[in-house]
Amino acid sequence: MENVSYLLSEIQKLSLYKQKQILSKLEENIMLGSQVTEITKEVKEMRFSKGKVCPHCNCEDISRNGKYNDKQRYICKDCGKTFTDFTNSATYKSKKPLDKWMKYAKCMLSGYSIRKCAEIVEINIATSFFWRHKILNCISTFLGVGSVDGVVEADEVFFAYSYKGTKPANMPRPSRKRGKQVKKRGISNEQVCVATALDRQRNLIIELLCTGRMTSDELKKLYNNRIGEDSILCTDSHKSYMQFAEDMELEHKRIKRGKHKEDIYHIQHINSLHSSLKRWMNRFNGVATKYLGNYMKWFKWIDTFSAEKESIQIKSFMLHSHIPYSYTKIKEFKNRMPIFV
Ligand SMILES: [Zn+2]
Repeated sequence: MENVSYLLSEIQKLSLYKQKQILSKLEENIMLGSQVTEITKEVKEMRFSKGKVCPHCNCEDISRNGKYNDKQRYICKDCGKTFTDFTNSATYKSKKPLDKWMKYAKCMLSGYSIRKCAEIVEINIATSFFWRHKILNCISTFLGVGSVDGVVEADEVFFAYSYKGTKPANMPRPSRKRGKQVKKRGISNEQVCVATALDRQRNLIIELLCTGRMTSDELKKLYNNRIGEDSILCTDSHKSYMQFAEDMELEHKRIKRGKHKEDIYHIQHINSLHSSLKRWMNRFNGVATKYLGNYMKWFKWIDTFSAEKESIQIKSFMLHSHIPYSYTKIKEFKNRMPIFV
């Protein structure tokens, strides 16, 4: 207590401006600290909502096994492995404290670059890159593919294929020389097709479908059991959707290009979603195709939770990065390949 009064008297000697700076810094720290405690508690509750399960073998015969670094450890009586409440989450095996990860989550929700996140959180750029994708791997698992129902708008959006960060040995063709870009007209295999479907409750499906033109079979593979039975599918006049709607026995409204229907059946919501997706992706200056799926889920998360207050968003983003079991080793990033439906 003596220390506290000493510190206080020292602080009171400072200018009012400096005192305010200290106050807001302290408030931020206290807020972060209490949120970290809340998150730790909620991760535990949600992960084990049906009772304790071993993340290694799903066995339920668990006992406590002491504490390490203030974290409760458990041991599985079946496989003999130990675990904590955070095993195989985004922050698993991280030596950095959780409040740093929270700051990182905040940066991600602002859509900052890897470099900017690294500067603000005071970690190096390589770490910033891995943190981003460890979080996104969990977020992707948490969100899953999802489903849509009712009036459903479906359309596809294309991104240029990018081999960025791929070892030359894994490349299907020699990399392009500057100024010698392959220009193919229209849709080619140099483009990645991302399928999107959006219903009026704003449930969103957004998945890497294929390279080049899509087929109705690919659509079926993605949307099978994910579009409610009596849904009404609204699309442009792309042929694949006709075949797809017929095979799935869905009522189908084809909206002609440039035709603005006053009707409730239109594709304006999905069109404007595509515009904001393109705008959002522009800031990243070309994403490697092997990571594109993660960026789509990042966008989906932000789109889904955008109505929440910032503090709630950060907390949910952290929770969703810890509840699913998804641990990615760094070496797995290097050999990663794009995953299509
Ligand atoms: Zn086990």
